[in-house]
Amino acid sequence: MVYICISASYIQMPVQKLESVSVSVELNATSGNWSLDNSGRFTCLHSMQAAKTRLDGWFVRKEFLDLDPEDVPAVLDFLNQTGMFVNAPTGKEFTCPANPEELRQFQSLVRLYLISDPAEWRGMGKGFPGKLLHYMKWRGLPHFRMDWSGEAPTAVISAGFTFRALMATIQIDKWRQAKHRKCARPECETVFPIQGGRFNKIYCDHICGQYQAIRGYRKRNALKKKAGKLAGVEPNEIEGS
Ligand SMILES: [Zn+2]
Repeated sequence: MVYICISASYIQMPVQKLESVSVSVELNATSGNWSLDNSGRFTCLHSMQAAKTRLDGWFVRKEFLDLDPEDVPAVLDFLNQTGMFVNAPTGKEFTCPANPEELRQFQSLVRLYLISDPAEWRGMGKGFPGKLLHYMKWRGLPHFRMDWSGEAPTAVISAGFTFRALMATIQIDKWRQAKHRKCARPECETVFPIQGGRFNKIYCDHICGQYQAIRGYRKRNALKKKAGKLAGVEPNEIEGS
């Protein structure tokens, strides 16, 4: 009897390393007709005849993360410009994100993925609805084509749904080792990219930085006053100290 031993290196799929790859992510947005019904649900009638617009995936992601889910006109405007949020049957009423709360949860998950290592994604999302986690499990990249018209060839990744475009940008960001961080102001949910090696930047913008500085100053002052009262010192003596 002859045994054929296939070594691990033999069955491993060969990989090609590219020096530099230019990648863009485009969302082929179908114009929709979203509305918020009387029960507080976002609904849309999907039609394949709708015109398509090409939008930059990173621009769409920023717009999506900046949305205030309670600002319904702004949310509807976003949905109407970007079209279908996730893969949907055609020509039917469609509801995803179902409501402002579900939109907020999608935003939280996208932020969580942005600031985490992909190796941690599998165990993340405890407490989120299974339906959303199911969408987040998607690891594929949508179809891509090569654009040879510029100076360097660019792989153009095309997504037909907003959520796939968002996930594609996250995966490309992880691939190119881009780092993101949540703003250190506790009530600010903004996740921002760390650019130019500015690893000591902890606030998303100047306003959040100032807000926290004032808060810290007031907290320190209050502690001083409290300590002064306990020691029997007049508050104005502490102010001048
Ligand atoms: Zn902030």
